[in-house]
Amino acid sequence: MKHTACPNCSHTDIYEFHELKNAPTQSLVTIKDYQEAINIPRKNINLGFCQNCGFIFNTTFDTSIDYYTKGYEDQQGFSPTFKKFISEITERVLNRYDIHNKDVIEIGCGKGDFISLVCELGNNRGIGIDPAFVPGRTKPNPNLSFISEFYSEKHGALPADCICCRHTLEHIHGTNEFLKTIRNSIGDRKDVILFFEIPDITRILKIQAFWDIFYEHCTYMSPLSLGNLFRANRFEVLDMYVEYDSQYLFIEAKPVDEISTKKHPLELSIPEMKDLIEEFKSKIGVTLDSWTKRLTEFKEKGLKTVVWGGGSKSVGFLTNFDHIGAIDHIVDINPHMLGNYIPGIGKQYASPEFLKEYKPDVVIIMNGVYKREIGDMLNNMGLNPEIIPL
Ligand SMILES: [Zn+2]
Repeated sequence: MKHTACPNCSHTDIYEFHELKNAPTQSLVTIKDYQEAINIPRKNINLGFCQNCGFIFNTTFDTSIDYYTKGYEDQQGFSPTFKKFISEITERVLNRYDIHNKDVIEIGCGKGDFISLVCELGNNRGIGIDPAFVPGRTKPNPNLSFISEFYSEKHGALPADCICCRHTLEHIHGTNEFLKTIRNSIGDRKDVILFFEIPDITRILKIQAFWDIFYEHCTYMSPLSLGNLFRANRFEVLDMYVEYDSQYLFIEAKPVDEISTKKHPLELSIPEMKDLIEEFKSKIGVTLDSWTKRLTEFKEKGLKTVVWGGGSKSVGFLTNFDHIGAIDHIVDINPHMLGNYIPGIGKQYASPEFLKEYKPDVVIIMNGVYKREIGDMLNNMGLNPEIIPL
């Protein structure tokens, strides 16, 4: 399966610049059985750069796989660091556009944590839409309801002063189709605020964050491609910013009648993006080799090495190094992940408490933002391993 046209703008001037072979096709799915985890199909990821709109995507992404309706785990709300971050971001956007006592829709709401927060902080009425919604994971709220479906134009009939979409667009191959659906569902209304959050490819390119490249993410946005996508679908970009150690890119936008020409200062030019891509290309091999060397040394010295932080980042990381056999355990604080097996890799998630008895020598943290939180937890357990944050 080869996508020769850009899903963001339909142009065919695509420059392929990175291949990752045999990546597990799923990373968030919940799997209770070792064999089932190992049997998850593996496919190649080929990152291509659209030289017209700046969009980066997996040109060989298989759109026929059912990624999300079989149950997945992606809740981040178990971390105090994340809770603080998301509360501050939400408070800010609610105040900025006075989203209080309003109707808010979240597309791709997961377990409902965010839409629940939006309702709680702004006394809003909320509807979460997600085909894989699991009831019972958020505090009951009479102003909050959920629809277990993929978002479609018919949901335009729902009342919405604000449409949120966090960490969903990177899983959607047909980005232009998706935005078009949202724009059509809004129709003539001009007072709707869109609030989207997505990983920023800019940081991945700059620091060769290879652990953030995995199969379930078919779409890799930068401010440039995101701005182009919103403008092409008759939205005006109100603001964009990056947060969480520059990992997450936010956009605030509103519908307009004509194509907006307003660009945001964060948007690089196509040549500037191309320079970042060339830099990534020249450095990624060295980065991967140095990790291979490091992990091989850990293995040879008999050091007990664990990865802290499950989900897609650990799959992205281990896809490159699992064959070395240096890492036996993956730790995560999400209690719903415990006992599950990592797709494609086959290792079973363990709880932080497991480390008390295991006594690791090295802990590799999949998201450096949690360095302090995890360091404190390790200290409280009387452990003092070498900590390597990504
Ligand atoms: Zn394009």
